[in-house]
This record gives sequence, structure tokens and C-alpha cells, in this order.
Amino acid sequence: MNRAFNFAAGPAALPDEVLQIAQRELMVYGDLGHSIMEMSHRSSTFIEVAEHSEATLRKLLGINDDFHVLFMHGGATMQFALIPLNLATPNTSAEYAITGYWSKRACKEAQRIRTAHAVTETDTYIAPESSWDRVDNSSYLYFTSNETLRGVQFHEFPSPEHTPLVCDMTSDFLTRPVDVSNFGLIYAGAQKNAGIAGVTIVIVRKELCRPLESNELHFLNYQTHAQYDSMYNTPSTFAWYVSGLYFDWIVKEGGVEVMQQRAAQKSEVLYRVIDGSNFYQSPVAKEHRSVQNVTFYLPDERQHHHFLKEASNANLKNLEGHREVGGIRASLYNAVTQEGVDTLCDFMQDFENRHG
Ligand SMILES: *Cc1c(COP(=O)(O)O)cnc(C)c1O
Repeated sequence: MNRAFNFAAGPAALPDEVLQIAQRELMVYGDLGHSIMEMSHRSSTFIEVAEHSEATLRKLLGINDDFHVLFMHGGATMQFALIPLNLATPNTSAEYAITGYWSKRACKEAQRIRTAHAVTETDTYIAPESSWDRVDNSSYLYFTSNETLRGVQFHEFPSPEHTPLVCDMTSDFLTRPVDVSNFGLIYAGAQKNAGIAGVTIVIVRKELCRPLESNELHFLNYQTHAQYDSMYNTPSTFAWYVSGLYFDWIVKEGGVEVMQQRAAQKSEVLYRVIDGSNFYQSPVAKEHRSVQNVTFYLPDERQHHHFLKEASNANLKNLEGHREVGGIRASLYNAVTQEGVDTLCDFMQDFENRHG
């Protein structure tokens, strides 16, 4: 069996150990006589899986009792709607820092039902917070910690002083320590750095959750999901289970600090190759470049296609940039190894020597 070096942006590479455990347990989980997917989510076995995964996540990020931890359906995109619906009111506004594709989409979705105000709008860098056009009467300040398309990352988070921070951490969740107590809500689709598609983790401050009103749609209120421990209806049981395995793996590797060190090292060698060449061009301001998604362009279309083809032949997969922006994107999530990145760097230098 040949596992390639996989730089997919999401759904993305999983640690071999996570897949091996899932494989070992796929047909028969423990002594049940069937898999974990083939039974009630309300069984004691699944509830154990669910509780263990939440407890592990709480430990990994130091999440205290002021917060609910929810395992929801609907992807990160459903949160674009639930956040304004639950945390903003018809009489307040919400602030959005647009630093790329995903925050822009989130802001547009919010504008359908609430007053959502863009405090900044950039694409390849992050304007200083002091220059943001803040408004009064704001329910929260929304931002995307890592913009996955171009690879623009907040290395320092906005100030939590004025209004609760709400953050889409989908593409850098569990890649560094985060002081959760500075946030109102953090969410992440699992399929980038914490599992497979189908489950979205929402960490929300209890006091921000509105009580349920009888005339509203219960499914769309965080309070419902909190009250039923994310089992108001059938959760994505297998995806939830895989996230639990992923959390265990991070603990075993040494925690989010170790993930952070590895990401720094992986991205540094890759950016060094890009910066040391006139052939590869990074579109992002140096101080905001992502350690998770490294993007660059080749001199022309023909070279671009050659690059992808030769990379694939060299066992380096899924390097094509997002269709909106083109170019090359190497995603260096938790499961991507230093060996994979070193192999990519060698390939890039060799490719440049031959074509540059
Ligand atoms: C991938 C991604 C999303 C979209 O996730 P879905 O699960 O497809 O809804 C949203 N935000 C960010 C930052 C992402 O990387």
C-alpha cells in the first residue's frame, strides 16, 4: 500500500494512526459484534465515545464550564447562518472582519437576516485592527483565523475588549494553543485539522445562548443542541468518533503546542524555498502568511500544469489551488508530515532548476 504525500485543503489528510484504529475497529467495535456506525447514538457505547471526545477536546484547549461544546451537522457553512441568528438581534449589528473568501461569505449570509457590517475588507493581508471601521451597538466581532484559499492567517487575534469574538477556526483548529476564555464562540468543520467531513465543532459561551422561544425553529437554536448534548437528532456518529480518535492522537503527540511547533517548521522550510526563488511567487503579505495553507504561483499556465502533473507523479497530491484564485496551494495541516513537506521542497527546487 502506498500512501501519497497529501496536501489537500479539505477534506484533508488524516494521521495514519487514526486511520489504522478506525480500520481495526471498522467491522467490530470492542466486543459489540458490529461497528460503531451500526448502532444507536443513544447507546451507552456511543455516549462513552461522545463524552470521551468532548473531555479530550476540553483538555486540549483548556475549555472551561462557561462553554458548551457542540458536535453539529451542516458544516462550517451552516454556522454562517446560525451565528447571526443566535447571537445578533434585529436591533443590533454584527461586525465582520473580511480577510478572504470565507469571512466574506459569512458576512453575506449574515446580511440576509441581520445588519452585518464589514469593518475591514482585504484579501492578501490583514489591515491593522486600529484602522478597522468599528461600529457601536455590535453583538460580536466575527473573523476567520485562517483564510484557507489564499493562506492569510491571524498570528495575533483581535482584541476581545469591546465585544465578544466569534471565530471560524475551521482551517487552523487545534494547530496552536488558544485562550478560549477570550472568545464568545469558536467553531470548526472537522475535515481540515480535526477529523472528517460531517461534524462541526462549536464552542460557545453559555451566557450568549438565547433561551428557546416557543415560536422559533428549535433546530436552529444553539440552546437546543446544548440541552440535548448534540443529540437532539441523530448526530454524524462516525465523523464524531473519528474526531475523538484525532483528539486522542494530538494528545499522544504532545498536544497543540507540538502541533504549533511542527506547523512552524513545516511552513518555514516551504516559504524559504518560495522566498529564495524568482520562479515561485507568494501572493500574501509576509507577516500574515499562513502556516497552514501555503499558496504560490508559477510564472505561467503551462508551467502550472506541468508542476501539478510532475508533482502527482512524484507522489505529491492535491496541490491545485482553489478554483477562485488558482495557483498552487499546499495545506500543511496536523496530519501532514515534515517528510512530506521536505519532499515537496526538494521537488520544487528540482522543478525550478529544470524549468526556471
Ligand atoms: C472549509 C472551510 C469552510 C467551509 O466548510 P464546510 O464544512 O464545507 O461548510 C468554512 N470556513 C473555512 C475557514 C474553511 O476552511
